[in-house]
Amino acid sequence: PMSAATSIADLLAIGRDEATAIAAPDRPELTYAGLRRLVADTVATLNRLGIGRNDAVAIVLPNGPEMASAFVAIACGATTAPLNPGYRAEEFDFYLGDLDAKALVVERGSQSPAIAVAQARGVPIVELVFDPAGPAGAFTLEGSSAGTAAAPGIAVSDDVALVLHTSGTTSRPKIVPLRQRNVCASARNIRVALGLTPADRCLNIMPLFHIHGLIAAVLSSLGAGGAVFCAPGFNALRFFALLGEAKPTWYTAVPTMHQAILGRAERNREAIAASPLRLIRSSSASLPPQVMRALEETFSVPVIESYGMTEAAHQMASNPLPPRPRKPGTVGVAAGPEVAIMDEAGSAILPQGEIGEVVIRGDNVTAGYAANPEANAKGFTDGWFRTGDQGVLDADGYLTITGRLKELINRGGEKISPREVDEVLMDHPAVDQALTFSMPHDKLGEEVAAVVVLVEGGEAAEQELRDFVARRLADFKVPRRIVFLAEIPKGATGKLQRIGLAQRLGLSA
Ligand code: ATP
Ligand code: MG
Repeated sequence: PMSAATSIADLLAIGRDEATAIAAPDRPELTYAGLRRLVADTVATLNRLGIGRNDAVAIVLPNGPEMASAFVAIACGATTAPLNPGYRAEEFDFYLGDLDAKALVVERGSQSPAIAVAQARGVPIVELVFDPAGPAGAFTLEGSSAGTAAAPGIAVSDDVALVLHTSGTTSRPKIVPLRQRNVCASARNIRVALGLTPADRCLNIMPLFHIHGLIAAVLSSLGAGGAVFCAPGFNALRFFALLGEAKPTWYTAVPTMHQAILGRAERNREAIAASPLRLIRSSSASLPPQVMRALEETFSVPVIESYGMTEAAHQMASNPLPPRPRKPGTVGVAAGPEVAIMDEAGSAILPQGEIGEVVIRGDNVTAGYAANPEANAKGFTDGWFRTGDQGVLDADGYLTITGRLKELINRGGEKISPREVDEVLMDHPAVDQALTFSMPHDKLGEEVAAVVVLVEGGEAAEQELRDFVARRLADFKVPRRIVFLAEIPKGATGKLQRIGLAQRLGLSA
């Protein structure tokens, strides 16, 4: 029964009644029987409020068990659209308008600026009410009816389950509708790649307004009949206490989180030794091989780097579990969808070993962006979705992401992959993190620059770092400017942000 589910409701039918589905700090656990009841009640309530399948319901909730259960339960009867609770009024206004939301769900007592924005737009507010001493993730919805639901009942495979915006790393965020079958395929692909079973317990520290946490932590766990322990968010200081409390068999995070965790590992040897972790997953941005090695040494478990994006309902490729080899610096092999490399003109699939644009096709991939014909025309060619990432496949089918096409630095016609420069800089013993980017240059158009965060107590002069890079890379790749910062600039989902950095730092050459 495990491989067939193409709707979230069917996927949730797999867990045993008495098994834990959702857990959280200091709360009784929610069983699968409880979760299935919650789904039935939620769909009935939504229908009573005039909300049905394919109606967009914006959700603004703090990270935690109710955010996870609201996502799955609301997605069974409508389309969930989780928004970052940290947005300001202006951002909420933009997103609520973009989504054409039929309702906004907030916790009772919420102070979110989204409420006033929704009221001004005439979007009904639905309150989520829960008992802080009750099972993790159990809730009821309360609001006033807005009429009759056009499409009541349980959502089926072609209904849109989830609408998200891309992270906005390279452009204005794009709206990605994901159907029930897209998210279920992705959850299944992740379950298979990680060998998840009902005995697994995931610690979720990822934000639940981003595809990574929603699918890789929550939906893949529930589709395996396992448990997901929902932390209030990520905090490197709290992380080791959560290891003890949640007893996770795995967790998934972005590389900047892994780095923050490593920074506190020395002080937490006992918590690490006592933990039942069997694997650590990394995705959403490239994991520097140095960080992967340090994680594997520190936790004595395999680190599985995967490649994901919003448009693919997250996972596209993944390193395999032992005994098959992990290849550091690669994102592994196709893990569900077909993965190929296309020439930049979009006219042909390239042979193995050649660099080009990564393209994918499979059940997990969105049918297209909402209200963005231009992005759709550029994004799809011959049934392939063009990821905008540049990469190459090796003879064993392992994919290396060499960069993002939009982030490549064009220095008077010479193309430079900023990631290559990052990795060399991070090999310098005084450098903890590095981020290379394009800065404007009056003759060349673009020139190479980098920001660097030094290791605690580390020292290195700008010229010394330039010399270090020059010993390993051609002169034109050596950053003309290296700026020292206390912290690397990140977006809301913890991703490094190269685009716009020169402008923010006031750099030009
Ligand atoms: P936008 O599309 O708005 O610019 P975004 O692409 O950052 O934002 P996401 O969908 O969150 O939004 O991220 C997907 C991208 O993240 C991929 O296209 C790829 O560039 C990058 N990525 C994900 N996993 C990895 C990985 N393991 N290694 C390298 N890059 C990765
Ligand atoms: Mg993208």
